[in-house]
Amino acid sequence: MVIDAAGYNRPVVGDAPAPAEDRQLADATRFRASCPGEIVAAADVRGPLHHSLVGSAFGAWRAWATDEAIRAAGSSGGVLTALAALLIDGGAPAISAAAAPPTSRTVPIRLTTREEAMRSAGSRYAPVGNLAHPEALTAPVFIGKPCEASALRRATGADAPLILSFFCAGVPSQQATDSLIEHLGADPARVRSLRYRGGGWPGTFRVEDADGRIGEASYDDSWGRWLGPTTQWRCKICVDGVGELADVVASDLWESDASGYPVFDDRPGVSALIARTQRGLELVERAIAEGVLEAEPVTLAEIIAIQPLQRERRTTLFGRLLGARLTGARVPRYPGFGLLGIALLHPLRNARGALGTVRRALRSRRRGA
Ligand SMILES: Cc1cc2nc3c(=O)[nH]c(=O)nc-3n(C[C@H](O)[C@H](O)[C@H](O)COP(=O)(O)OP(=O)(O)OC[C@H]3O[C@@H](n4cnc5c(N)ncnc54)[C@H](O)[C@@H]3O)c2cc1C
Repeated sequence: MVIDAAGYNRPVVGDAPAPAEDRQLADATRFRASCPGEIVAAADVRGPLHHSLVGSAFGAWRAWATDEAIRAAGSSGGVLTALAALLIDGGAPAISAAAAPPTSRTVPIRLTTREEAMRSAGSRYAPVGNLAHPEALTAPVFIGKPCEASALRRATGADAPLILSFFCAGVPSQQATDSLIEHLGADPARVRSLRYRGGGWPGTFRVEDADGRIGEASYDDSWGRWLGPTTQWRCKICVDGVGELADVVASDLWESDASGYPVFDDRPGVSALIARTQRGLELVERAIAEGVLEAEPVTLAEIIAIQPLQRERRTTLFGRLLGARLTGARVPRYPGFGLLGIALLHPLRNARGALGTVRRALRSRRRGA
């Protein structure tokens, strides 16, 4: 995966010696069958809980890490880091993402100690292909975005590692990170430390460069004004921002205001945690029993109620995909997610979504012409 001129990660054919022709063909077929730009298929495992916008589950909780340092370092409740640390302590290394000073980039890494897990805690709103790590397909534990969870499961089938994921609104451009760092008066080419959130919930974007210049921006400002608006097109037509193909998935469980919108006041982080598989359920139950996580059950409806973007995206996706197809754009296949059924319940919003997509495509073509 290589970051292109627009700041997004794209797959390229590497310059390693080309394998034999039949192997190339097999690799290309496997890539096409698993790349989330081609296909994301709904999970065939069904748990006892179900919601049309969140999928199926074996359990759902409101949770946080009992280790205060992990909770503070984590993006919300630090639950993914706490689970990773528990697995690492048991001898199972994990693939995840981390900062890569002195650059402003985020890179995939292999976590073998609790300290490394702590250093990789927190959301990174920038392109990174954790699946591009050489050991991603063979390490016992994988942490990554829902699209990576889907690709990994499709590529490895029954041999899939234990997959931990998080709700995902989409990946912003690397250029957005660099512009924000410059705007805050620091040098994106000489980064000493860079975090997108943390030190509170949601905490702040904070960068320090090699000359000791420190820049800080609130979550509203960093995500809302700089990073979020550069989310790539593929993410805007994503069927699975809620990690249906993971074993365990976490999200923010914000408090809401009277109109149901999240309140971003700093306070100790709380995650929603969903077990998507039986082995995911066993991991969460073990973490609770061993005192690694504090958790209480919630419903899937309570979790999605606080995720306006995820709700809207899946509810109107059928219309927006239709609009994209009408303009001749290629879109991924999404079998099994019941998008037509959801659209039939919300015909007007889907019609508006289709029209809006057509209009935006025509406008951007006119600009490019
Ligand atoms: C791009 C992006 C979009 C998000 N959108 C939403 C959303 O719409 N709704 C919502 O509720 N939550 C969203 N989150 C997730 C949320 O910010 C938290 O990650 C989630 O609540 C889990 O928190 P935690 O404290 O348990 O995780 P932590 O303990 O902080 O662990 C997070 C793990 O994810 C890994 N990671 C971080 N960034 C990336 C990345 N870009 N690619 C791959 N791995 C990464 C970290 O290395 C770490 O292992 C998003 C996160 C990202 C990175």
